Amino acid sequence: MRVFACPNCGSWVEFEDRICLACDTHLSYAPDRDLIVRSVPGLKCRYRPLLSCNWVADPDPEADGSCAACRLTVERPDLEDEVAVTQLSIAEQGKRRLLRQLLHLGLPVEPRRDDRGLGFALKSPAAGEQVLTGHADGLITINLTEADDAHREALRISLGEPYRTMLGHMRHEIGHYYWQVLVDGAPSQAIFRSLFGDERQDYSASLDSHYGDEDGDGQESGEHITDYATMHPWEDFAETFAHYLHIADGLETTAAVGITVDGPTGVSAPLAGTLRSVGVLRLEDLTMAEILGHWHGFAIAANALSRSMGEPDLYPFVITPSVAEKLAYVHELVRAA
Ligand SMILES: [Zn+2]
Ligand SMILES: [Zn+2]
Ligand SMILES: [Zn+2]
Repeated sequence: MRVFACPNCGSWVEFEDRICLACDTHLSYAPDRDLIVRSVPGLKCRYRPLLSCNWVADPDPEADGSCAACRLTVERPDLEDEVAVTQLSIAEQGKRRLLRQLLHLGLPVEPRRDDRGLGFALKSPAAGEQVLTGHADGLITINLTEADDAHREALRISLGEPYRTMLGHMRHEIGHYYWQVLVDGAPSQAIFRSLFGDERQDYSASLDSHYGDEDGDGQESGEHITDYATMHPWEDFAETFAHYLHIADGLETTAAVGITVDGPTGVSAPLAGTLRSVGVLRLEDLTMAEILGHWHGFAIAANALSRSMGEPDLYPFVITPSVAEKLAYVHELVRAA
């Protein structure tokens, strides 16, 4: 993501900040200008006090005082329930990052109305109730228990996943939405099938066989970005789409903060100086191969840095040639949109 400055004192402020720590100015994010601005009373999202939303209210009367991000939520838990509200604010924070990126990339976002368009059902399951995170016809359901670190981390370990985050869930589910909007019935659907497989295969049988595969070795052929993506062409597309958003956001951030990777040093040839990565604020003029060329250096450097802190790899993925081809397909879809 880009970097933001306080409109009053020019200090570096974060996308989520509601107040400048240097000068106490109250801040809001204006999605139409992609800027942090001074908060104006009466023009703040109605969910600012309860959910820490810092966006400017959407002027559309149908938004009813919500911002462009909060208005996409068509179902939320009981706001008297403190645990649910904490989980909801974490999910909404991820959703704001997601939406800002979709707008930045120029992807269409149609707020849900009459069972059409994009909406989010953010649900907190009652005891014994099962809520499945997923997408159906523009409606993205998120099980808010995923906002609980201990719960999510336990699931991540039991499923053998290297990466599981709320933002990752949002990016995955939006991938299903854009499959429907940009691929289903489009001329490029034949290319989709040649790369990802035929999506008309039985989905529930694929689901059963995935969760029955105890070894989790489906990814070994190197054709998928994650093990989960091996389950069905739709899941492969959603995982690939989410991954494209990870890389796009990462490269935008490195450009915004001015990181370049030009190394490594302290090693002899042929390794010395082989990485050369610069960030990219807008990806549309580059090919996917160029984007991945830039990303490669950052990924290696970020992992090395993460290990210096005793943490696991920040970027626990490998881009094989097959995955790169699929990412190139997603890049063309986003560019065309
Ligand atoms: Zn300030
Ligand atoms: Zn809001
Ligand atoms: Zn999915």
